[in-house]
Amino acid sequence: MNSEALPRSEHFTFHRLAEGIWAAIALSAGLAGSNSGIVDTGDHTVVFDTTLSPASASDLRMAAEQLTGRPVSCVLNSHMDRDHVFGNAVFSPETIIYSTTRTRELMSEQTSADMLEFKKKWPELQAQWVEGARVTRDEAERVDYEEGVKFAQRIIDTFPQMQVRLPDHVFDDQLELQGSKRTIQFLTYGGGHTDSDAILVAPADRIIFTGDLFVVKNHPALFKGHPRQWLDILVKIKGLDPVHLVPGHGGLGTQTELMLIERYIQETLQMAQENRRAGGTGESAAALQPPAFAEGWDNGDIFGENMKFLHEVVQGKN
Ligand SMILES: [Zn+2]
Repeated sequence: MNSEALPRSEHFTFHRLAEGIWAAIALSAGLAGSNSGIVDTGDHTVVFDTTLSPASASDLRMAAEQLTGRPVSCVLNSHMDRDHVFGNAVFSPETIIYSTTRTRELMSEQTSADMLEFKKKWPELQAQWVEGARVTRDEAERVDYEEGVKFAQRIIDTFPQMQVRLPDHVFDDQLELQGSKRTIQFLTYGGGHTDSDAILVAPADRIIFTGDLFVVKNHPALFKGHPRQWLDILVKIKGLDPVHLVPGHGGLGTQTELMLIERYIQETLQMAQENRRAGGTGESAAALQPPAFAEGWDNGDIFGENMKFLHEVVQGKN
């Protein structure tokens, strides 16, 4: 069924979703940190999100060029988070990077500081793990520390190439790219996961790249955005009737998995509501157990932060 050779990368597995549309699913051992994608409109080669590191971003760029036979003409940054935009500088100055007006505004305020903090944090973590490996008497723990030290080094090695590049062009609601093979849209329904989130829609193929508005077998990060608006956005995404959904994190999904994220937001909001009615605090909300259907999901350490935030949301502060 799939005769074309897919590019190989230590950072991603590439999946062909349709003729001219590929998902790049991040490998946990790689440095991408989030999923991305490549779309050939027939006239333009489009990359969705640039991932966390210059190393993964340059694999993505090479894969896009190899698969479509032309340079990358456009990139969409779905939202401002580091794991979706730190790879921007790897793309040629001729490549136009798009985002919403609000995302660009947030990036111009925060991405520089965010990158400085990131470049400071990893050498510190590495030093802690070097020390951990030195002092531990537990063999398995020592191996874990040593793996961590190596992983940190791979990230630190990309720092010289890791630079801030802000989006070149912005849009407020929607931007359409018409090509000889397909027409695609960059569109936003406002902010859900962050203050502004954009998606890439290939309507005829019924494929959507969602950024972090949708994740698979991962706790969604609710604490920086607008959970109630997020629910409205998910209804709109379902209304586009997608067959393939490429999440920001985790494997490929469908509307079935999308409905689990909807359920997660609804149930956690309800839990926060009940906790508040019972006179609970943000701390007692954070101490609750995640919904049973989310058992085993990655990123579980953010559950407490989500609940603390929802405690404020249900008091009407967000
Ligand atoms: Zn992310």
